Amino acid sequence: PKPFDPESCRSQFPILTEPPGGLPLHYLDNAATAQLPAAVLTAVRRHETMSRANVARGVHRLAEAATAAYEDARSAVAGYLGVTDADEIVFTGGTTASINLVAYSFGETLGPGDEVLVSELEHHSNLVPWQLLATRRGVALKVLPVTEEGRLDLDRLPSLVSKRTKLLALTHCSNVTGAITDIGPIVAAAKSVGARVLIDGAQRAPHGPLDLPALGIDFYALSGHKLYAPNGVGVLWGRRELLSKMPPFMGGGGMIAQVDLETGTSFADIPRRFEAGTPPIAQAVGLGAAVRWAQALDWAGIAQHEARLTGRILDGLGAIKGARVIGPTGLQGRLGVVSFTLDGVHPHDLCQWLDRKGVALRGGHHCAQPLAKRFGIAGTSRASLAPYNNDADIDALLAGLEDARKRFA
Ligand code: PMP
Repeated sequence: PKPFDPESCRSQFPILTEPPGGLPLHYLDNAATAQLPAAVLTAVRRHETMSRANVARGVHRLAEAATAAYEDARSAVAGYLGVTDADEIVFTGGTTASINLVAYSFGETLGPGDEVLVSELEHHSNLVPWQLLATRRGVALKVLPVTEEGRLDLDRLPSLVSKRTKLLALTHCSNVTGAITDIGPIVAAAKSVGARVLIDGAQRAPHGPLDLPALGIDFYALSGHKLYAPNGVGVLWGRRELLSKMPPFMGGGGMIAQVDLETGTSFADIPRRFEAGTPPIAQAVGLGAAVRWAQALDWAGIAQHEARLTGRILDGLGAIKGARVIGPTGLQGRLGVVSFTLDGVHPHDLCQWLDRKGVALRGGHHCAQPLAKRFGIAGTSRASLAPYNNDADIDALLAGLEDARKRFA
């Protein structure tokens, strides 16, 4: 790839080059939703103006074009994730939908005496589906604790994983602390007892191509809207031998082989079996364009760029009286997601204050209430980076924080 150039990357994002209302925009809420490059906006618009139709049902020209575009997007996603069998890519509504799919479908095979391991730092979408499964099927939930640094305490794996463990459902990167999970020990622990591994990739997937099969995991979930694609689409990747044995989750059109009121219904092969109803077609096309756009980038260069900006945020926070980082304070094993508290200032007030200066942050519990409880706080303010962020964004953030400290002190 061409060496990474932050300003040329930024110039591909219309919302950043021409911010709405002509107001300054320092968009640092990428962990919630990332912005769309022109390549994605164009691909969606072209699809909707030239190829809009339902998929897999019609034989007319547009239906064929829409089906081809939808399946082409599946191949693009497979390529980004290092998956050779594109049928292992199931389009869903997002990470939440992907995890619920596994919790309901794979979950059907579990019952009393079985255990699922989650962690204290999971997003609610990788906690609540397992709590619901526990209630529904009498499965026990085990919880991996978090270290003082805001990382999974992998040393505790041996004491929490046993022959009863059927699934480990853990995040690849925390949406609060930015800590990246070391997948190796998790897969090793799972293999030692014959358990499966689901990884929540919502935060990691936007930061460069992956080789999922090589990770040794079984399921991976991600959201399009964090990966420079429209919202309403996401992905569940699962190994063919697992997916093809799992019962359907939702029933409806498109997921059947044959429906008969007397003899019953048989189901389509994967991935269709898990894509009941009209799928998010234009969104999937957008996701295909997004991963192709992302795959062409220089991710080593981006990692350096983001690490430098992350370092500036961490150093800046270190110099602000009363600021406390929740998560790793160094650059090792993390992404550019930085959560912090500022003494005497509620995260919502702080984010509102920064918004007036054109700085978009997120404040609150970030859908990870058990983690907030672990750190004894109600919530944090969070800055999260994408490749298009620049030094001006960090300058505006740090100046705004210093201002807030004076103003609210
Ligand atoms: N997991 C993590 C780690 C996340 O950051 C998010 C989004 N905040 C989700 C899951 C849920 O993603 P979605 O709302 O797109 O389903």
